[in-house]
Amino acid sequence: MAEMREWQNHRGLVLGSVKGFDLIECEKCKFKHIVPIPTPVELEAVYRQEYYSAEKPLYLERVREDLEWWNLVYSERYDTFEDLLPPHRRRILDVGSGPGFFLLHGKQRGWQTLGIEPSAQAAAHSRELGLEIVEDFLTEQTAKQLGTFDVVHMSEVLEHIADPKEMLQIARSLLAPEGLVCVVVPNDYNPFQYTLRTVCGYEPWWVAPPHHINYFDFDSLSRLLTISGFKVVLREATFPIDVFLLMGDNYVGNDALGRQCHAKRKVLERNLSEAGMTDLKRRLYQAFASIGIGREVQIIAQKE
Ligand SMILES: [Zn+2]
Repeated sequence: MAEMREWQNHRGLVLGSVKGFDLIECEKCKFKHIVPIPTPVELEAVYRQEYYSAEKPLYLERVREDLEWWNLVYSERYDTFEDLLPPHRRRILDVGSGPGFFLLHGKQRGWQTLGIEPSAQAAAHSRELGLEIVEDFLTEQTAKQLGTFDVVHMSEVLEHIADPKEMLQIARSLLAPEGLVCVVVPNDYNPFQYTLRTVCGYEPWWVAPPHHINYFDFDSLSRLLTISGFKVVLREATFPIDVFLLMGDNYVGNDALGRQCHAKRKVLERNLSEAGMTDLKRRLYQAFASIGIGREVQIIAQKE
């Protein structure tokens, strides 16, 4: 029997417990998150020094290895921004800009770019690429020195943040009228994962405290954007990589197999791109989004 858990202003059914944290379906926040929520001081230590060296040691190497594919992903995102914005509006802020390749792609197609990134290693790497980076967390305080933007991009950020609503409000304050926010987060507790748990005996491997605090899906992220003063204009999934698990390739904890599955997905997407089928692929992934499928939730929303 699931029990209720209350912690500070949060309250909800406990869906599971990992590493001393309870994961709740929070009735106050209307999305799933762990409790207790780590403090800003605890999170600061993790992301300034440890994250890319301890938690993601292979990350930079892999991004470089996958760069051709990443650039396909990035070009679709910039295409969408350029479709939605008039041609003179090309200022972008990347929050949690990591190694900088997303901004580099934008710079090369004429965007005015700025990154904000707390990891010393990732910021240094970005500067080697010739990018301007503020080495810090995005807070109400640090936001004041950044300026105004037409797009605020946050990929793989909101799941790590103690107060994602506050983060979206800060993003909103940085946007010019009708500016866009692009948010990418894992699509957790999705129907494929549900199947894997109930039929195939999988544990919820995607629950990863303290790094992942929040667990979104298309609807809960859309709702959070709406109450934060945005109008959702595009919901698009990324490839549902968990389909490999459903087909019997258990890559959980098996890095080599995980890379093989990822390589197949890259082949699929490259083939469609080379055939001029990017538009069809995107409509397929938008259809996935409409039924809650996909490994990541990607939402573009406009400031109201
Ligand atoms: Zn809550």
